[in-house]
Amino acid sequence: MLQQTQVKTVIPYFKNFIKKFPSQKKLSEASEDQILAAWSGLGFYRRARNIFASKEIIRKEYGNKFPKEFHQIIELPGIGKSTAGAIMSLAYLNPHPILDGNVKRVITRLLKKDLDLLKEAELWKLSEDLLNSDDCFSYTQGIMDLGATICTPLKPLCNECPVNSQCLSAFKVTAAKRKPSPTKKMISMDLSLVQTDKSFLLAKNEAGSIWNNLWLPLESGSLKNYIQNFKLTASQEIQHELTHRRLNINLNTYLSSKESRIETNQQYKWIKKDRIDEYGLPKPISKVIKGL
Ligand code: SF4
Repeated sequence: MLQQTQVKTVIPYFKNFIKKFPSQKKLSEASEDQILAAWSGLGFYRRARNIFASKEIIRKEYGNKFPKEFHQIIELPGIGKSTAGAIMSLAYLNPHPILDGNVKRVITRLLKKDLDLLKEAELWKLSEDLLNSDDCFSYTQGIMDLGATICTPLKPLCNECPVNSQCLSAFKVTAAKRKPSPTKKMISMDLSLVQTDKSFLLAKNEAGSIWNNLWLPLESGSLKNYIQNFKLTASQEIQHELTHRRLNINLNTYLSSKESRIETNQQYKWIKKDRIDEYGLPKPISKVIKGL
């Protein structure tokens, strides 16, 4: 969850996720939809799909026990060298270096190196040299927390830093200029949300460039032969920002007297309103649905 998302955003999602899936066994029984539903609103849904894919591998190949070897952990979908290193050091107290964005910044400042001039392999070497093998748990957790809370990108809090006496850049970091954010690509969607008094008509988004495998209202084009059977109740435009894209969703809401059959190549389902929380829906869509 913490890949690309801040701790304070993650906390309620983490608590809810652990409540729903308190053990490897419970997680192993979950469908991809249930995992996506618990992830709904956190974004970067590939992470949730990777959890599903990983737990399937763990169930089939490791008898439902999380693997203990670095080479096995790094094979799991969504787990790179740094995350695998963190798992080894934190879960198994088996020292392995880590190197995420925060750690790169802390170690290059500590050693007064120019991050832009170092190759990835050189950064890994520095991380390995700094690793405290006698207490890899405290070291790993400490360097991650330092990067997230004290040695921040724009204005490091050197006076509060526990390693300022050893840091070659202490009190000398000039405030970095924020990089201008890249122009976001605009994506337009034209969706139709059909409901009866008991259910919503939703389709699994299997081919989309965003929100893959989440449940969305049907594309309006898929419904054009049926639309005369429904009563239009609202039309709205929803703007939503993702990290690299801007979405403009034109959403029409319809009422249908029955759960009609639709001829479409989208994998659709009439989902009972009281079971909607069991399906992974993107936040702007679940917000509309909950408001109906
Ligand atoms: S002293 Fe300042 S620059 Fe050095 S690690 Fe601490 S916060 Fe970062």
